Amino acid sequence: MIIIGAGMTGSIIARELSVYRIKVAVMERSLYVCGGQSKANGAIIHGGHDPEPETLKARLNVEGNRMFPRLCEELGVSFRQSGIYVIAFEKSEFRVLLRLLEQGERNGVRGLRILKAPELRVSEPKISRKAVGALCISSGGIVDVHRLVIACAEHASMNGCQFRFGEQVLGLLRQEKRIEGVITTSGEHRSRLVVNCAGVYADDVMRMAGIENFCIIPRKGEYYILDRAEGDIVSRPCFQVPTPGGKGILIFPTTNGNGIIGGDSVVIRDKADTSTTAEGYRKVCRNVRRLVPDIDTERIIASFAGIRAVSSTGDFLIEKAEEVEGLINVAGIASPGLSAAPAIARSVVDLIGSEITLKKANGKIRSYRLNPLFRDASDTEKESLLRENQGYGRVVCRCENITEGDILEAIYAPIPARTVDAIKLRTKAGIGRCQGAFDMSRIIEILTRETGIRPMDVLKNGRESRIVYGYLKGQGTDETR
Ligand SMILES: Cc1cc2nc3c(=O)[nH]c(=O)nc-3n(C[C@H](O)[C@H](O)[C@H](O)COP(=O)(O)OP(=O)(O)OC[C@H]3O[C@@H](n4cnc5c(N)ncnc54)[C@H](O)[C@@H]3O)c2cc1C
Repeated sequence: MIIIGAGMTGSIIARELSVYRIKVAVMERSLYVCGGQSKANGAIIHGGHDPEPETLKARLNVEGNRMFPRLCEELGVSFRQSGIYVIAFEKSEFRVLLRLLEQGERNGVRGLRILKAPELRVSEPKISRKAVGALCISSGGIVDVHRLVIACAEHASMNGCQFRFGEQVLGLLRQEKRIEGVITTSGEHRSRLVVNCAGVYADDVMRMAGIENFCIIPRKGEYYILDRAEGDIVSRPCFQVPTPGGKGILIFPTTNGNGIIGGDSVVIRDKADTSTTAEGYRKVCRNVRRLVPDIDTERIIASFAGIRAVSSTGDFLIEKAEEVEGLINVAGIASPGLSAAPAIARSVVDLIGSEITLKKANGKIRSYRLNPLFRDASDTEKESLLRENQGYGRVVCRCENITEGDILEAIYAPIPARTVDAIKLRTKAGIGRCQGAFDMSRIIEILTRETGIRPMDVLKNGRESRIVYGYLKGQGTDETR
């Protein structure tokens, strides 16, 4: 079986399949997991009040949300069921809250309630005093999305799934009406089934199979990360009432202790355009003041943009292709795709099971859990980690308190982190206030020492992202160049 794409969807499907006696390979064009939407999103686990009732989005969001606490506990990934607020500032918006409450109940969301302004002020004191009330979705929360995708992929890999990075699928092998594999940058790979989890490029893969009646509408969202000192600005994701264009500008905390503002939604042409813009920055800063008037936007330390893979049907598309055999499309997985991911994986495995016999791989299946980062470990865990490797005693990233031991774990993980950004996603080294200014050279040094990659060949993320271009006179040796 071949899965195209090692984002949230492809990786969690691979993990789910890894308990069966079946050979699975994941083809990913990037050099590590999270090459697309799963790298740049809100990391909010929605309750399921927002999607239209009777849609796949609604059902899988509610089911996926219920699976999150156990999934994250099993994999050792941070998840906080903080609840989510949708906040109204006018009477007309309050009526929208009542409609959303009713819609959420129809979707089967538990723990929905309306908060009046005084209660809202107590739980979120920095929210504007003009707020008249909020819808509270208590099943909602926030997750460490990067470590979740990494943990799913590493678990799948531990159980025999092969991840092939830098392998872009360029075409499909086709025998009349049957898809028999993929053609990638490295050649032909045969497979009985191909599962298309290519995110914003899922429609391009469908076109390779001759399917023309579906397209992805790429919608860019810009986000601005606040310094950890502003991490307590809100205790949970705070949305404004949605508009036809989307869920609007919001403010939310991360499991890492930062605050983030953003989430505009602009249709773009270029699916690879993850630039942030002066216009987007101004729009986000202006708009977020409706929620938190006193926000100090001088405290922004970084920005990013993600491209949503919005489906032309308005709903997730998860089905066996009708036009050809041997292809399963998992397309249009925009928000709340992360929240729905565990349920999407179950549905896809059911679809696969209706095509081929899936037999459990008795006795050989290993469970898998990420070690906590050294800074997050308990005292007992810290002692044992230090006994194992003195590197846990050497801090490399001062802003995030990440040690050499954490970085070595990433380098020697079941899916080895071999670029600076891969190490950043797995360990958080470089995401803090200095944005890698202090630790990047140290990370390059460690990567070079441990893997034998020459400093000049260390990449930031993609193939064209060298960091070291030369040496100051008198520095560097023949071995290190
Ligand atoms: C701005 C933004 C905010 C969001 N916020 C939330 C949120 O708060 N909560 C929520 O539930 N959801 C949210 N989402 C949605 C969520 O991020 C996605 O639903 C989820 O990440 C989808 O994962 P995926 O694996 O389907 O797609 P992706 O993560 O895009 O993965 C697709 C992968 O396929 C690879 N690929 C593509 N083409 C090829 C090819 N030809 N050959 C090989 N590999 C290929 C890509 O490199 C990529 O790694 C948000 C999305 C965005 C963009």
